[in-house]
Amino acid sequence: MKINKNFDNLVPNYLFADVAKKTNDYIKAHPDKKVIKLGIGDVTLPLAPVVIEAMKNGTEDLAHKDTFKGYPDCDGYDFLREAISGYYKTLGVTVAADEIFVSDGAKSDCGNIGDIFDKDNTVLVTDPVYPVYVDSNIMAGRKIVYAGSNKENGFAAMPDDSVKADIIYLCSPNNPTGSAYTAEQIKVLIDYALKNVAVIIYDCSYVAFITEDLPRSIFAVEGAHKCAVEICSLSKTAGFTGTRCGYTVIPKELERDGHNIYSAWYRRQATKFNGVSWPVQCAAAAVFSQEGQKQIKENISYYQENAKIISSALDELGIYYTGGKNSPYIWLKCPNNMGSWEFFDLLLNEANVVGTPGEGFGANGAGYFRLTSFGDRNNTIEAVDRLKKLLTKLLK
Ligand code: PLP
Repeated sequence: MKINKNFDNLVPNYLFADVAKKTNDYIKAHPDKKVIKLGIGDVTLPLAPVVIEAMKNGTEDLAHKDTFKGYPDCDGYDFLREAISGYYKTLGVTVAADEIFVSDGAKSDCGNIGDIFDKDNTVLVTDPVYPVYVDSNIMAGRKIVYAGSNKENGFAAMPDDSVKADIIYLCSPNNPTGSAYTAEQIKVLIDYALKNVAVIIYDCSYVAFITEDLPRSIFAVEGAHKCAVEICSLSKTAGFTGTRCGYTVIPKELERDGHNIYSAWYRRQATKFNGVSWPVQCAAAAVFSQEGQKQIKENISYYQENAKIISSALDELGIYYTGGKNSPYIWLKCPNNMGSWEFFDLLLNEANVVGTPGEGFGANGAGYFRLTSFGDRNNTIEAVDRLKKLLTKLLK
């Protein structure tokens, strides 16, 4: 018996464990202090009423013989796929219902999509990066190359034309940097993929946070149907982090290496995935109803206001950052050229505020720090007040 030795190549990432340990140790040692966490990437507001109602009705269906549901299709019920297709229509994008695969979330699909690609493909990711893209490809034994996101490119890396990649992971709006690609940048990325006969895996899990005139789907940009797969999630859009639902779009015309990508993914899903439960799909469909869209926007606006409170303070302090505008994440340069962990410790000890050190997301994250807008409003205001006081003293 042999184990998959590629797992030996995974770099231990203790980021969140270390953040939790340092935070808990501090709280234990200072029980009188109120520590505010602005590091979390999880939502905090409850599901929208219309979503809860649909989930309750879906659950009630399971209680009666004539409405009971067993195994769902692995790619989702038609009513939900139609609803998602309708959402794309409102973006001016054509995605047929039968090009949509309903899933239990974007993380699974980002991690599993590699099943359909050969291990000898080269994978391009940005640095910093959402770690799932890297680790899932290391597990498969693929070579990974990096495109550096940095201050010069506004933490929205573009590929180097001299680098050849076969699979390209893009995340826009980006976790952790909060940057979002423009239509012009996406066109360059599509042209790069077409030239390299590559496939783009486009993760738009944070699409609901876009406020500027930016593409809300890669399929809004010409050429994407010939090179891209889009993965999205209801986690941040509608608070489904615990409920679990997302979707992946694969254009039926997308072919590589003499094979149809849609058919390969269908075969993969039919083999390894038994679908999303009836109550959750009912709840997900409610998100795309008129009332659902209105209600989820109220929650998004709440987080966006938090983001504004954080970014306005950084503006006042003259601290460089990306994100906040089209993203729940604010990615800031640590003051006085401090290291990420150095700033983490200072913020925890002096202001009792917790954030996420940037270097946990890649080498280019060194000296940067991620704050999130998913917290409670009053706590966000208080944390920002403390941050302002501390940094005003520090930057004097
Ligand atoms: N993609 C990105 C970029 C994320 O940051 C996250 C969660 O933080 C996910 C996907 C996970 O989404 P889901 O909850 O749908 O699995």
